[in-house]
Amino acid sequence: MNALKRLRSRLIEDFGFDKFRPGQRRACRAAIEGRDTVILMPTGSGKSLCYQLPGLELEGVTVIVSPLISLAEDQAAHIAELGTAAAILNSSKSAKQIAKFREQIRSGKVEFVFTTPERLQRSDICELLAEVGVDMFVIDEAHCASQWGHDFRPDYLCLHHARQRLGNPPILAMTATAAPKTVAEILRTLRLSDPEIVSTGVYRKNLRLEVQGCDDQADKDQRLRRLLVRDDSLESNQPAIVYCATTKTARRLAQQLDDLPIPTLCYHGRMKKADRAAAQQAFMEGPPAVMFATNAFGLGIDKPDIRRVIHYQIPGSLEAYYQEAGRAGRDGEPAICTLLYDPEDVAVQKMFAGGSLDASQLRTAHHTLCQGLERWGESEGNVSLSDLTKISPAGRQTLKRCLQQLASRGVAAPAGRGRWTCLNTELEDSVAEAIASDARLRSEDRQIALERMVRYATAGDCRWATIETYFETDDSESEPCPCDNCGQRTPSVA
Ligand code: ADP
Ligand code: MG
Repeated sequence: MNALKRLRSRLIEDFGFDKFRPGQRRACRAAIEGRDTVILMPTGSGKSLCYQLPGLELEGVTVIVSPLISLAEDQAAHIAELGTAAAILNSSKSAKQIAKFREQIRSGKVEFVFTTPERLQRSDICELLAEVGVDMFVIDEAHCASQWGHDFRPDYLCLHHARQRLGNPPILAMTATAAPKTVAEILRTLRLSDPEIVSTGVYRKNLRLEVQGCDDQADKDQRLRRLLVRDDSLESNQPAIVYCATTKTARRLAQQLDDLPIPTLCYHGRMKKADRAAAQQAFMEGPPAVMFATNAFGLGIDKPDIRRVIHYQIPGSLEAYYQEAGRAGRDGEPAICTLLYDPEDVAVQKMFAGGSLDASQLRTAHHTLCQGLERWGESEGNVSLSDLTKISPAGRQTLKRCLQQLASRGVAAPAGRGRWTCLNTELEDSVAEAIASDARLRSEDRQIALERMVRYATAGDCRWATIETYFETDDSESEPCPCDNCGQRTPSVA
């Protein structure tokens, strides 16, 4: 039987699906042919199958990197259901569990290994995996490797080293739809060679896009309340997310709207880790609730039945908007994505978009890192951002941004859990200048992205068409488009 036929019969027999979804066949084929592959498919469209199916078919181990422990747990559980062994190597496991997994890997029992970028910086893990033979290196949520988008993880910048240490297996990079700039940066930072790019476009016919212009905050608050408690609408009393640009707003709204008929929850980066986890779990597993959140609530939110995503403030780009709004309706049932647009809110995003770095700030940060390592880094060779902040002339956020930029040029490197190490004790002027000029370009780019987001909010064009133009795809069907400007009625929720 040829490889494609085998993939097809596995799809039916092992997974119980009757056919491939768009893009899946091409992605699976590229993977078993050993090509570098990039998969750009909207959330919920079935990216995991594109590594699971070839992973079962290929002889060696499939290594999967994902940014969140919970994502790895979910996927490993799914693989266990298929009757195949998976190992998880990350910081949530005890030394004893890790030792057991390592033994299983060594004995060749394990087909899939889930891990994190930090773990892969450790050579013992890479050696073990290289020894048993890795024939696919999967990078989930690959947009974390790009600084243009959102969710940037500096650890992702080191993955091309990890690939070498794993014996140079082909890479399968997966992400939800990304703008061309983000894709280009993923290709560059992961150093993919002549990759097959499988992109299935952005259009999702079950999502109604709408924008409501607001006069001021009071008007906006009123509209928000109406959206959430309209009793004539079947979307009320169903799971919803309200995205806010700042922690302060998320907190205020959660308090102000705690009299809704369903529970309200709050999630932002300033909460304690345990509180965040509890809020996320309540939203994912508890009764229908409204979540007031900042963009910290994102990765791994794969709840299928979110019926509404409301943006209380305009986000910084259409890419961010599409990612966040796209968490609605993963089950394919109708859902509504509403942007509450108050021109005043653009200023907040303008501020986020600014923030260029100059060469002297970078030199200072580099100096701080070297000093910090002398002082605190003796035993482990790395130092925490918190310690560095104590001796830094710049604030914590600026310092962190500088370190990330130094990491992008291989001068510094993240060492996991908020710790940093230095790879080069000299910071050449040309490197500092290059980083500064990069930062300038990035800031300009963010301004442009913001302008396009504002245009989405204010223009009378089809909203789906605007998004497709932005992502340079065009795949909407000819049916009436579900957006307010095209005038289709709100789809009803069954
Ligand atoms: P993504 O990672 O793209 O967001 P997932 O891989 O989590 O999406 O898949 C979303 C859902 O789609 C899962 O429940 C999965 O079982 C289902 N699915 C994937 N491929 C198929 C298929 N070919 N036919 C039917 N359902 C599928
Ligand atoms: Mg996924």
